[in-house]
Amino acid sequence: MPTTHANVSPEEIARFDKLADRWWDPDGESRPLHDLNPVRAAYVADRVALKGAKVADVGCGGGLLSEALAAAGAQVTGIDLGERVIGIARLHLYESNLAVDYRVQSSAELAATEPAGFDAVCCMEMIEHVPDPEALVNDLAAMLKPGGMLFMSTLNRTPVAFGAAILGAEFLMRMLPRGTHHYAQFLKPSELARLLRHAGLELEDVSGLGYNPLSRKAWLSRITAVNYLLCARKPA
Ligand code: SAH
Repeated sequence: MPTTHANVSPEEIARFDKLADRWWDPDGESRPLHDLNPVRAAYVADRVALKGAKVADVGCGGGLLSEALAAAGAQVTGIDLGERVIGIARLHLYESNLAVDYRVQSSAELAATEPAGFDAVCCMEMIEHVPDPEALVNDLAAMLKPGGMLFMSTLNRTPVAFGAAILGAEFLMRMLPRGTHHYAQFLKPSELARLLRHAGLELEDVSGLGYNPLSRKAWLSRITAVNYLLCARKPA
C-alpha cells in the first residue's frame, strides 16, 4: 500500500522551502504569485460565498491565497509539505492579524481525515509539481462536500507556455529560479478536465490567466495557452 506521503517529490518541496524567507516579498521569487493573487482570489470569491465557508488551500506555500480567502471571511485550512513555507505562512499571520489553520500535511492525509469536509478546495500552481496528478485530483475531490467547488490553476503544456514560464521567467528575466518548472509535467486543460471527470466532478469554467511581468498586471482572459484557472463542482 502506498504511504500517505507517496505523491510528493522531495526535490520540489526543498526547492520551495529555499524560497520561504522571501515568500511575502512582492519583488522576490514569488513575485508572479503576488501579481496573480488578486485575480484568482476574485475568481473564487465570485463563485463561492466565502463568509463562513470552510475552504482548504492545498499546496498553500507561504499563504498568499489562504490569507486573501481568510480576509474575505472564509475559515481556511492551508496545507503544504514544505515545513519552512508553513513556518513562514504561520509567522505572517502576526502581521496580517488573520486566522488560518496551517498544517504540514499531504493532500492524502487531509482527504482521509476530513472527507467531504470543505465547501471549497483550492489548489493553485501545485499540480505541475506532483508525481501523480490523478491521485492529487482524487484527494481534492474527496475533500469536497457534495455541491462544493474545486478551484485549480496551472500551466498549460504548449510551446507558448514553455516560452513564457521556462525560457522567459527562468532564463531571460531570471524571475524564477532555474528548474522551477518541468515542461513535461504541465497539463493541458483537456487532460486536467479528464482527471476531474474521473474524480466525479463537473467542470464549470476554464479561464485563461493573462500576465504581463513587466507591468505586473494580471487579468482573466480567453487565452488559456500559458496559465489557466478552472472550477469544477462536486454534484450535490
Ligand atoms: N498555492 C500557492 C503556492 C504555489 S507554489 C500559491 O499559488 O500561491 C507550489 C507549492 O506546492 C509549494 O509551496 C510546494 O511546497 C507545494 N507542493 C509541491 N508538491 C507538493 C505536494 N506533493 N504536497 C503538498 N505540497 C506540495
